[in-house]
Amino acid sequence: TEACLAEIDAAGALNAFCAKTPEIALAQAKAADARIKAGDAPAMCGIPLGIKDLFCTKGVASQAASRILEGFKPEYESTVTQNLWDAGAVMLGKLSMDEFAMGSSNETACYGPVVSPWKVDDRQLTPGGSSGGSAAAVAADLCLAATGTDTGGSIRQPAAFTGIVGIKPTYGRVSRWGVVAFASSLDQAGPMTKSVRDAAIMLGTMASNDAKDSTCADIPVPDFEAALTGDIRGKKIGIPREYRMDGMPAEIEKLWADGTAMLKDAGAEIVEISLPHTKYALPAYYVIAPAEASSNLARYDGVRYGHRAKLSAGEGIVDMYEKTRAEGFGPEVQRRIMIGTYVLSAGFYDAYYNRARRVRALIKQDFDQAFAAGIDSILTPATPSSAFGLGEMKDADPVEMYLNDVFTVTVNLAGLPGISVPVGLDAKGLPMGLQLIGRPWEEGDLLNQALVLE
Ligand code: GLN
Repeated sequence: TEACLAEIDAAGALNAFCAKTPEIALAQAKAADARIKAGDAPAMCGIPLGIKDLFCTKGVASQAASRILEGFKPEYESTVTQNLWDAGAVMLGKLSMDEFAMGSSNETACYGPVVSPWKVDDRQLTPGGSSGGSAAAVAADLCLAATGTDTGGSIRQPAAFTGIVGIKPTYGRVSRWGVVAFASSLDQAGPMTKSVRDAAIMLGTMASNDAKDSTCADIPVPDFEAALTGDIRGKKIGIPREYRMDGMPAEIEKLWADGTAMLKDAGAEIVEISLPHTKYALPAYYVIAPAEASSNLARYDGVRYGHRAKLSAGEGIVDMYEKTRAEGFGPEVQRRIMIGTYVLSAGFYDAYYNRARRVRALIKQDFDQAFAAGIDSILTPATPSSAFGLGEMKDADPVEMYLNDVFTVTVNLAGLPGISVPVGLDAKGLPMGLQLIGRPWEEGDLLNQALVLE
């Protein structure tokens, strides 16, 4: 813990931690030492972690990287972080992220961008987003692992950009209680770690059956680490034709082929499959996610949480709401709220929101059919490219940024588990990741297959 705290101080230029909690960390570490001495130590005991700013941590600023939550210190602890502390893990501090988890480059954070520890010459790169602080901190060895959340790729894309492992579990595996909501039907928390084994151990600690989140499934949490045998003989792994997009960089194509060969060499059967509705996933996601976000973010009105705008004489409560939200939300969040309220408005609800929901059902059905045909997992690239430069997308159409999520959003729409594993470096020396998508509730099996790619 002390070594990590020193590393965090030395790596201030990465801007990964938005708050440090050394007193809490040292007290937890001391307690962990005692538990280890007493012989009562689960695997996570004494492990120093970074926590994404989206998790509510009792008495510690939890801002979702937004100005609107400035000064907000929750009275409660999220279930996921409570599970980690109960297992003896140590909180080093809170990690930056895109504001309200909306973004793919960590540039929408109110704390300023996070810098990846990876570089090309002197060019600064994005660690990806929205869990960019988590990815940068793990990749730079500022902590042993971090929590992330993933609504459309926010664990898997930054993991791929920084050469670490990230898994988004099956929807309902991990409690969302105390995690600031972005799009409630898509959000899941998961671990971001140095290895597949670490991910298995940490996911087992984060997951629980939680009555405080009605969408958290009441099914047992298996021992994910025990599933890591490395034996994948006879597994059927699908390669979806529709993910082979026009204009995909040759290096990503090669990575995908290399990963396929690794799985085949380990004894898996490789099968080409079709997921015909894939091309509608990104548009459906960018209707559904903003729709849910616009509803979830309605609660930030200057009355209950964080920032409240100063009023001039003669201004009333409506001015207070408007000014607070105009000052508190950044441009990307405002864009999502506007899109969301538009697609939910009476005149457009059927044309956009309901249509997107029907598309979502078809996307899920594609996966269901593949699994019913005996497919155990599906291999795809995690991202369409390696990390891009900080500021590079500043003047681009926002849709360009959304294209980063093209391989990941299907998994959230279908509620499936997906893992990103670092598999190789591109010609610039930057990490690239592959994604394995698993059957619902089969994270153990998925992690075991991912072990072969590591
Ligand atoms: N990049 C996607 C978005 O901006 C996904 C974000 C996420 O998974 N939280 O919505």
